[in-house]
Amino acid sequence: MTDTADFSLVDIQDLHKRFGENEVLKGINLQIKRQEVVCIIGKSGSGKSTLLRCINGLESFQEGDIRVDGKPAEPDNPNALRELRQNVGMIFQSFNLFPHLTVGKNVMLAPMLVKKLGNSQAERRARHLLERVGLADKFDSWPDSLSGGQQQRVAIARSLAMNPEILLCDEITSALDPELVGEVLQVIESLAQEGMTIIMVTHEMNFARKVSDRVIFMHQGKVHEAGTPETLFTNPQTAELRQFLA
Ligand code: ADP
Ligand code: MG
Repeated sequence: MTDTADFSLVDIQDLHKRFGENEVLKGINLQIKRQEVVCIIGKSGSGKSTLLRCINGLESFQEGDIRVDGKPAEPDNPNALRELRQNVGMIFQSFNLFPHLTVGKNVMLAPMLVKKLGNSQAERRARHLLERVGLADKFDSWPDSLSGGQQQRVAIARSLAMNPEILLCDEITSALDPELVGEVLQVIESLAQEGMTIIMVTHEMNFARKVSDRVIFMHQGKVHEAGTPETLFTNPQTAELRQFLA
C-alpha cells in the first residue's frame, strides 16, 4: 500500500511557456506534496507569476505537463478548467473584491453560483470563514470601508469558500502599507499550521524562512535553487541566489 500523503498534489514536468518568441518558463520540474508550504522567490521577470498562473489554468503552455491531484491541467478544456479552478484558489496582489457587494456577499457568491449552495448555507460558511480571518464583525461592511489588509483577508476568505485543496498566493502583501502586512501573513501562517497546501510567491524573506517547508529560487525561467529555508538562506549555492539575497 502506498501512503496517499506521498503523492504529489501538484506535479509539474518539464514545463515550457512562451509569450511569442519570449520563453518565460524554460523547463520547470516541481512536485508539491499535500500540506506542503512552498515559497517562491526571485527577481521581477523570472517567471514566478506565470508559473502560478499555469498551475491554476490562467495560462496555456506549449510543452510539459501539470497535474493537480493527478488530473492534467488543460487550459483549453472548459470542464477540466472548471474543476481545476475549484481545486486551486488564487490570491493576487490586488484584492479585486466586488465593490458593489458587501463583504459577506463577496464570500458567498462563488459557492452559490458554482457549487449551488443555498443562501443560508452559504451565509453560515461565509460567517465562519470571516471569523477565521479575524473579520467576523465585517459581514455587512462594504469593501471600500476596509483597510487594505482587511480587504486582502476578505479575499483569502473568499478563496477558501470554494474549499480549494491548494492556495496560490502571488505577492499578496506587496500592495499593502507595511503596518498591514503582518495581519495578512498571520492568516496565511495559521492556514499553513492547519495543513493547507500553499504555494506563495513572496518578498517577505522572514516569512519564507519561518513558515515554509521549502523555498524555490527562480531565475530566468528556471528553478535555479531549491531546498529548505535553512539551506537556501544560510548556505546559498549559486552566485545568482547570493546576489538576490544580498
Ligand atoms: P515575475 O512574476 O517573476 O515577475 P512574470 O511571470 O510576471 O515574472 O513574467 C515573466 C516574463 O514574462 C516577463 O518577461 C514578462 O514580461 C513576460 N510576460 C508575463 N506576462 C506576459 C503576457 N501576458 N504577455 C507577454 N509577456 C508576458
Ligand atoms: Mg509576478
